[in-house]
Amino acid sequence: MIHQVSRLPQDDKYLTDILALQVAVLKAARNIPDIDIFDHATGNSNFQLILENQLAQERRFRDRREEVARWITRKSATLLKPLSRFARGSQQDKDDFVQGVISDLNLLFRPHAASLSIFVLDNAGDWQKGARDFLYVFYDLWKDPGFDKILFSRSMAGEKYSRLDFIAEFEKENPGIYVCAICDGSGYKTKTESRVYTSVEHYLPRSIYPHFSCHPRNLIPICSFCNSYIKGDNDPLLRDQQRIGISELPLPYQQDALKDKAWVAYLQRNPYNKAEHPHPYRLELRSARNVDNLSLIISLNHLYKVDERWSGVLEQIEEQAFRRLFQFLTLSSLGGQALTPTNLSSQLRTLMAITDLENVGKDPYAFPMVWLLKAFRDQLEQEKDQSSVYKSIRDWGQEIHQRWIEIQDRADELHNRVP
Ligand SMILES: [Zn+2]
Repeated sequence: MIHQVSRLPQDDKYLTDILALQVAVLKAARNIPDIDIFDHATGNSNFQLILENQLAQERRFRDRREEVARWITRKSATLLKPLSRFARGSQQDKDDFVQGVISDLNLLFRPHAASLSIFVLDNAGDWQKGARDFLYVFYDLWKDPGFDKILFSRSMAGEKYSRLDFIAEFEKENPGIYVCAICDGSGYKTKTESRVYTSVEHYLPRSIYPHFSCHPRNLIPICSFCNSYIKGDNDPLLRDQQRIGISELPLPYQQDALKDKAWVAYLQRNPYNKAEHPHPYRLELRSARNVDNLSLIISLNHLYKVDERWSGVLEQIEEQAFRRLFQFLTLSSLGGQALTPTNLSSQLRTLMAITDLENVGKDPYAFPMVWLLKAFRDQLEQEKDQSSVYKSIRDWGQEIHQRWIEIQDRADELHNRVP
């Protein structure tokens, strides 16, 4: 993550209830040997009592076990059909599966150097696909229409809890972030007066890790480029055909933001082939001094191609940086006058800090722009008045001086026009 995102205390609690419920339902289905939970012929279910008995053992559901079991069994066609496929697995397989789900869910709350038990259910047996489909459908119910308040151990303002409530809390807890926390490249949301529209990323994709589809640490609103076009269903835990540990991933809500622990290098492409790349330079995200987070940076780039995407729009970032610099010099009344490499260098140093403090997290590409200003400054320090940044600013200064004279003439003319 380029930007730190804050945890969502309400969503954490609600979705933890949902994870506990999913596990309880799987446990109940696990204990039924080889029978249909769902009678396809009559549409009847004998599952309600079995589930109530299971929920009686869970503190958070005990006093609402009947209503909760009814909510589940009422979704008979969608939830019970896949569950009855799961129930047909062997006792040992189902036991292992449920244990694996529980340990994976806990691991994502406290990631450490361990690997997940469950992944890629595509080539699995029908009973596993039953579990997967059950979890898929559960997530879809959250999206629309949302979960009934009866499922939750704490009181709730509305009747339902849905994906829109999750997004609303994300916005509330992360008020200073307007750009995508992953790529810094564009806004993560668009709004009408009453609703926020955004993509909610399953960081560990639900096609591979269906048991994380409602995990609060696996869900984050991000831009649709990151979500759909770039990452898609790629497995974050697979890098160059090797499985990596979960702690090597830049997980949402977990590690420090890279914007405070990394910097961006401006590098000449060598050799440079214009047919291949539009720009002779590229940007590269690097670890800060004395910070060991290269693995996180590699993972972020592997998944979301963050610095490659910045490099692809380098011309735009440069133009934006120059525009800012011009505006800043105009405001600091340096435009065209007393311009020396030394005072331009000190202005660039100040502008880096202002951009970092005022714009990063709010304007797209402000983070790489800070480091582009640093690259301009380095160039200026080395090449002094021969550097291209100095020459551009000097030419602009002459232009703005000319323009200033035109503006003053126009002002005189406007004022003198009225008799
Ligand atoms: Zn993004």
